[in-house]
Amino acid sequence: MGLQLNWNRRGFLGTAAAVAASIFGPGKLWAGAAKVNGTAAVTGFGQTGNVYDELGVPTVINCEGTMTMLGGSILRPELEAVMAMAGRHFVSIPALEVAAGKRISEMLKLPDGYSALVTSGAAAAIQSGLAGILTGDNESFIRQIPDLTGMKSEVIIQKSHRNPFDHQLRNTGIKLVEVETRDQVRQAVSDRTAMMHFSNFANATGQIKVDEWIKLGKQYNIPCMNDAAADTPPVSHLWDYANMGYDLITFSGGKAMRGPQCAGLLIGRKDLVGYALLNNSPNEDTIGRSQKVGKEEIIGMVKALELYLKEDHDALTREWQARLERISGELTKIPGVSTSFFTPDIANHVPHMQISWDSRVPLESKQVSQMLRNSKPSIVIGGGEGRPGLTMCSFMLQPGEDKIVAEQLSRVLREHSA
Ligand SMILES: *Cc1c(COP(=O)(O)O)cnc(C)c1O
Repeated sequence: MGLQLNWNRRGFLGTAAAVAASIFGPGKLWAGAAKVNGTAAVTGFGQTGNVYDELGVPTVINCEGTMTMLGGSILRPELEAVMAMAGRHFVSIPALEVAAGKRISEMLKLPDGYSALVTSGAAAAIQSGLAGILTGDNESFIRQIPDLTGMKSEVIIQKSHRNPFDHQLRNTGIKLVEVETRDQVRQAVSDRTAMMHFSNFANATGQIKVDEWIKLGKQYNIPCMNDAAADTPPVSHLWDYANMGYDLITFSGGKAMRGPQCAGLLIGRKDLVGYALLNNSPNEDTIGRSQKVGKEEIIGMVKALELYLKEDHDALTREWQARLERISGELTKIPGVSTSFFTPDIANHVPHMQISWDSRVPLESKQVSQMLRNSKPSIVIGGGEGRPGLTMCSFMLQPGEDKIVAEQLSRVLREHSA
C-alpha cells in the first residue's frame, strides 16, 4: 500500500514536472514559475493581473498613507524579486536573524553594542522587546510569561502616550503605570519597574520629551523603549534614538520603508535584542511564537532597508509635493475650492494637502469621502477628523493615480456645486 502510494506520488510528480517543463523549459521548473518570462504569464485567479479583483475584493487608490488596514505599502519590484529568491531555500531561521541583525547594524551604523532583530512588525517588536527585558535568558521565565511571578511587573508611560499598541506591552502581563510629571516618574519608579515606554508620535503632547525621557531612564537605571513605528522619514530616525541612548527602538517595515507588510525592526542593545529573539518565533513555548516572521520577510526587510537608505529622499519629497500640486491645480479651478499644504512634524512626515470648499459646494467632507470610496476605481481619502474638508497625502499613490484622483474629485465637487 505504502509502495503503491509512493509510486503514484512519484508518477504524479513526474507528470507535473513534464507539463511544467513544456511550459517553462527544462531545468526551469521553480525558477521559471516565479518569473514572468514572456512565454507563459503567471496567473492569479484569472487573467486580469489583479488577484484581489479576481477574488472579489476591489482594490483602492490610497490617499491616506501607510495604513495597515489598506495593506501597508507597495513593494518595489526589485524587492519582490529578492523575496522570491528567499523563498527557494531552507535555512536556519535563528542564524538568519543573527546575520540580518548584523547587516542592519552595519547599514545603520548603530552605536557599539547595538544590534537589530527583524520581527513581524513594530507591534511584535514592542512585545518581544519588553518580554526580553522581563525574562532575560531565563528559560523558565520565558515559558512562564505572562505569569510574571519572580519578574519585574510594571512599565511607566506618560498618560498622553497611551495608545492601542500598548496592548502589546500589556500582553506580557505587566501593569502600565501612568505618569504626567517628572515628579510622578520619580514616585512611580520602584523595584517592580521593568521599563519606561515612549510613544514617539506623542512627543508633542507629553510634558516629558523624547530626549529627557531617556535621561530619566538613565538616572533611574531603567531601560527605555521608543516606539517610532511610523516615524521615518526622516531616515535619520533609524539611528537618532539609538544615538540618544534608547535601549530599544521599534519601526514598522511595511510603512514608509516599503518593506514586507509583515515585517518590522527591533533596534537596541545587543543583550536585549538577543533576549527578544529568545522570546520570539521560531522558538516554541514563547509569547512571541504567534508573531512568526518568515525567511522571505527577514530577507525582504534587510533588502528594503538597503534600498530605502539608497534613495534620494529630497527628490522623493519633491515628487510627492508635485503630485499634490497637480491635483490642486485641477481642484482650484472649481469656484469655492481651495487647497493648502502642510507636513506633520512627526509620523507620516511627508507632504500633505488640505482640500477645503465654501458654501458654493454644499457637501460635508464625509459625503465626498464616501462618494470617492464608492467610485470606480475606489479612492480612499480622509474626511473630517477635526479639520474641515479633506486631507490627503500622495506618497502611496502609484504612477498615474494622481491624475485619476484629480479627475474623480473634480467631478464630484463640480457635480454638486451650486
Ligand atoms: C503602525 C504602528 C505600530 C504597529 O506597527 P506594525 O508594523 O503594523 O506592527 C505601532 N505603533 C505605532 C505608533 C504605529 O503607527
